[in-house]
Amino acid sequence: MALALSAVEPNPSGDAPYLRIATEEAYASREFLSAVSQLVDEGVDDPGLAAFFGYMLHSEAPRPTFVRERLPDLGEARLSDMDATGIARQILSMAAPGPNPFGADRGTALARNANDELEDACQRQPDRFSALATIAPQAPNAAAAELDRCKSRGFVGAIINSHVQHEYLDAQKFWPIFEAAESLDMPVYLHPTTPSKALIGPMLDRRLEGAIFGFAVEAGLHALRLIVGGVFDRFPRLRLVLGHLGEALPFWLYRLDYMFKAGGRRSRESRAARPPSEYLRENVWVTTSGMPWEPAIMLCRDVLGADRVLYAMDYPWQFEMDEVRAHDALPLAPDEKRQLMQTNAEYLFGLR
Ligand code: CA
Repeated sequence: MALALSAVEPNPSGDAPYLRIATEEAYASREFLSAVSQLVDEGVDDPGLAAFFGYMLHSEAPRPTFVRERLPDLGEARLSDMDATGIARQILSMAAPGPNPFGADRGTALARNANDELEDACQRQPDRFSALATIAPQAPNAAAAELDRCKSRGFVGAIINSHVQHEYLDAQKFWPIFEAAESLDMPVYLHPTTPSKALIGPMLDRRLEGAIFGFAVEAGLHALRLIVGGVFDRFPRLRLVLGHLGEALPFWLYRLDYMFKAGGRRSRESRAARPPSEYLRENVWVTTSGMPWEPAIMLCRDVLGADRVLYAMDYPWQFEMDEVRAHDALPLAPDEKRQLMQTNAEYLFGLR
């Protein structure tokens, strides 16, 4: 059963003067989906995972059904969806929660299997697919080794689906991952998942823990912890990618800097040498995943720089032809639109 998509029609802009490269496009193997389902059924100690993914994995409603069908597909159905919406290339990445909630050995094995499947897909469709490496951050040294293995197999970056059993990656035990990503020159896409236990409480009873709000709170907080925690002072060439137009951080830029200068820098907990905006403009790229909204896209281009904002669809969670059209209709010059839709991604992920 496919979701009825009223707006989808044959590629309406095959003549667009740019390639559409979609940079946050989810994949999950059937093995992975059933492993997460089992975690939820066994009463995993993660209320967000239980609530949100319990729904996504079990509901028979059209959207979760469509997502469950499409996540494992790396063949005809996905390619035909790409053709229908004029997507030249997807940069594939492991769906949330990724291997993060599993034990170290199980997570590492799941990551490796996912990467083998992704590598096969990219080899079958070299003109349509690229992929980010899946890693299990709870085993930091194994994760660093997996990045190295994946780099040699053509992966163009790594994905981390936010908190790791309620811990954040500014904790130094995780830094072998950043050290590897920096030295291998692989951008790290910090993707949301449902908020950690300490953060999620007041979101659950109003069902705000998912992509409606909780995802952005979780991933925005995580990114800010990396910045303030000194990750980019230690790894100045590390490149971080945030979806959903930077998880609201660009909107906060003035006040982040003001309050950092007013007091945050003096606190023992902040190790960052410079105000947050400097890292956001030098180490961070943002994608438009799920946010096909002109005022927000233009704000990000304005405050971060036009070379830092790139297109993403957020397939299969959001699969809307109108959202592609909204990007095509942005009030940008042709070369600026090409930068947003194509060349920023080519540069960031080394696609040519
Ligand atoms: Ca996503």
